[in-house]
Amino acid sequence: MSNLQQIDKQYVAGTYNRFPVEIVSGKGSLVYDENGKEYIDMGSGIGVTAFGIADEEWVAAAAAQLAKVQHMSNLYYTEPCALLARELCTRTGMAKVFFANSGAEANECLIKVARKYAAEKKGPEYSTIVTLKNSFHGRTLTTLSATGQEHYHELFQPLTPGFVHGEAGDLEGIKALAKQEKAAAILIECVQGEGGVIAMEQDFVKGLAAFCKEEDILFMVDEVQTGNGRTGQLYAYMNYGVQPDALSTAKGLGGGLPLGAALMSQKVENVLGFGDHGSTFGGNPVCCAGALSILKRIDDKLLAEVRRKAEYIREQLEGAKGITGITGMGLMVGIKTEKPAGEVLKALMEKGVLCLTAKDKVRLLPALNIPMDVLERAVNAIKDVCAE
Ligand SMILES: *Cc1c(COP(=O)(O)O)cnc(C)c1O
Repeated sequence: MSNLQQIDKQYVAGTYNRFPVEIVSGKGSLVYDENGKEYIDMGSGIGVTAFGIADEEWVAAAAAQLAKVQHMSNLYYTEPCALLARELCTRTGMAKVFFANSGAEANECLIKVARKYAAEKKGPEYSTIVTLKNSFHGRTLTTLSATGQEHYHELFQPLTPGFVHGEAGDLEGIKALAKQEKAAAILIECVQGEGGVIAMEQDFVKGLAAFCKEEDILFMVDEVQTGNGRTGQLYAYMNYGVQPDALSTAKGLGGGLPLGAALMSQKVENVLGFGDHGSTFGGNPVCCAGALSILKRIDDKLLAEVRRKAEYIREQLEGAKGITGITGMGLMVGIKTEKPAGEVLKALMEKGVLCLTAKDKVRLLPALNIPMDVLERAVNAIKDVCAE
């Protein structure tokens, strides 16, 4: 073990099972370790570096703002924050944005919006948030409560009350649950990421949205992982012909800087008023300047490119030796393999390809602009390792 790895093991909290590799530099979809070995980055920091490592346009946008004003309290206006909020609203039909620093925090904001909206509209007993089993919504105590996976809950009782979990795909069951529990909101991922890269069915999502509208329950979508071009549309809900009342996003939004956002539709745009919510770092001008440059580049041409690359991956891997299925949407890909996913990951790392897992699957979240020849090399390596 290298000296640095020893220091990290000794002093950094043991919450991560790191691979024995130190990443020291990179460019686009290629990264390099301490020995100069090159890897193709098929995980992009778990869907964060939307345009890869040290992307020039993004660096220029963030660095220019860094040299101007790196932070200002939310007592004053700053340009990147206002312009990014306008861009997000224009592109989604939403009305207002609250900026946070992470996915979990963006979800916390959605939950506060739902609770306050329902309490004022229907009464404080309408406080329950319905989420899905096998979902993932974050690591704070409240977003853990929202997360429908018991193994995340066990050691941290008591969690925030007011969350129930329905079965993905079971529209009637969730309707009954929402009524029985006096739901304020239903919160879903259109494609469950951590839960194993599982896309929801069209009818299920449409049915939930219609039911929420009828019952004046907020329909909220967690786009932390699926957002910002990942699924081949700007936001994943756009693949389903629905319009959420509110959505959260983070990961790819900042292109590598910590930024989360809660987007609120006209229906709930005024729910949060003075003093109802806040964040010291939220809306940081450097993060917002970087994000603005990212969003502007996620145009129709880029989204078509994302869909084309997704199609290529699916065509190549579906039915390949040692691969039993492909799931997901766009450049959010789950691969079911005959070999254990962990073994595949290790072999790929040796071949110079960094991938992720999600439950029992190998998961790919490459940069949206990964060059085709680099993608081909990675896909061939995956095929080779799975076939061995
Ligand atoms: C990653 C993720 C989160 C949590 O985001 P953090 O930035 O780690 O707080 C929440 N929801 C989904 C769907 C995610 O994929």
